[in-house]
Amino acid sequence: MEEKTYIMIKPDGFEDTAIVKGYIRRAGYQIVAQKKMRLTEAILREHYDFLVDKPFFGDIVEFMTSGPVICMIVEGENAVAGMRTLMGATDPNEAAEGTIRKALAKSKQRNIIHGADSPENAEKEIKRFFPELAAEKRRVYTIKVMDEQI
Ligand code: GDP
Ligand code: MG
Repeated sequence: MEEKTYIMIKPDGFEDTAIVKGYIRRAGYQIVAQKKMRLTEAILREHYDFLVDKPFFGDIVEFMTSGPVICMIVEGENAVAGMRTLMGATDPNEAAEGTIRKALAKSKQRNIIHGADSPENAEKEIKRFFPELAAEKRRVYTIKVMDEQI
């Protein structure tokens, strides 16, 4: 099934953006929208609401606001599950060979990339990180890469 997912390259992956995008495209997915952004604690409290009470939440905020992120909408056959597989396990020590996290991530926290874990969350996250698409009343499907520089 053709679907969209929300993917985000975290600050520790910014320097490797081209490499990460290579993994995504070689797997047959299309990056249909992208932008560079700096996250705030407020958006992280929404995005990681299930982690807010964890003792390491402060570290996550510090890490995720330490530099720019690349927000992307990725489209393709079973993109949500497929991208989760391509990313690999949360902890790179447990990630399979050939996955992005196995190749590039340093730790369970600094793990390079985020990917929505269900179609419902993908839709929510796309709205959260690309609110301008809804405001323009344009269908995400028609949005092409916004910034070729990235
Ligand atoms: P994901 O879906 O694979 O990204 O993993 P989760 O949804 O479980 O966690 C969200 C993010 O929080 C992870 O990607 C990590 O960056 C961070 N995280 C999760 N578990 C831990 C942990 O035990 N310690 C720390 N420091 N960070 C964590
Ligand atoms: Mg998750």
